[in-house]
Amino acid sequence: MKKDTPLFWTRTECPVCSSSNIKIIRQRNISYKEFNHDQIKITDKDYGKIWDLSRCSDCTHVFANPCPTADYIRRLYAQIKDPSYEEEAGGREKNFLPILWNINKIHPGKGNIFDVGAATGIFLNSARKYRWRPDGIEASSWAVGTAQKKYNLKIREGAFESIPLKEKYYQSVTMIDFIEHIPYPYQAVLKAHEILTRAGVLCLVTPNLHSLAAKISGGRWWHFRPAHIHYFTKTSLRRLLERAGFKVIKTRNYTWTFSAHYLISRLAFLDFLLKSNFLSSFFRKIPIKLALGDSIEIYAQKK
Ligand SMILES: [Zn+2]
Repeated sequence: MKKDTPLFWTRTECPVCSSSNIKIIRQRNISYKEFNHDQIKITDKDYGKIWDLSRCSDCTHVFANPCPTADYIRRLYAQIKDPSYEEEAGGREKNFLPILWNINKIHPGKGNIFDVGAATGIFLNSARKYRWRPDGIEASSWAVGTAQKKYNLKIREGAFESIPLKEKYYQSVTMIDFIEHIPYPYQAVLKAHEILTRAGVLCLVTPNLHSLAAKISGGRWWHFRPAHIHYFTKTSLRRLLERAGFKVIKTRNYTWTFSAHYLISRLAFLDFLLKSNFLSSFFRKIPIKLALGDSIEIYAQKK
């Protein structure tokens, strides 16, 4: 690997399958100079922003290349504050319940659950209600503090890759919208393998580059954003998991629920509807279920 600047580095191999059969496919429209922690917030609205992208001809994986370094990413995430994420807590909780239900179907019986990229703890709070013992890690200090204040949850602060954890201890590990943000996805999945029990279940959710929504929206796809440095397909995600010693048990298309307010606020031409306080709070109360199916939800167990 060659260093371009101290903050970005160039890969010569695919981060999923290690093939050197990689080609540049798109040029970036994000400026290195202007890149900052506000652009990687979960609720960032600046869609259609990409890094220089390379594609692996062997496993179909697409990834930022050059890519921000692990240390740079860690520093940026540590600074994130995103209060509007919590405004949608109700909808987000609804999104997470089918995940708990599916994990339980594959491996009946509760136990220890570890959520990687736990954000403000909405998922772990739901898991605890369903009698899981919650544990997890999050890079943003603000999010860790919010989880403690709002849900009385102790979430570890830092990076999953470098924190010492008990091996073969967790009945489930979840990575919901996490893997596309980190420089070394293979190492993260390998670590999940280490800490899971023999019959433990890994659940992973990530945007699907080959989804219909991605194809229809083209360059304006809302998962094209500075925070995303990987774009998986079902093929590359399966390859990643199998390489780390997992077998795929089940794959679904992820469905989102959020309020009408959230959707409208993300469609610039409808923004005028939120100018009045009455309409604004009215739209907050209307849940919308969007079966976009533009994320992959995948469940795996050890081979
Ligand atoms: Zn590859």
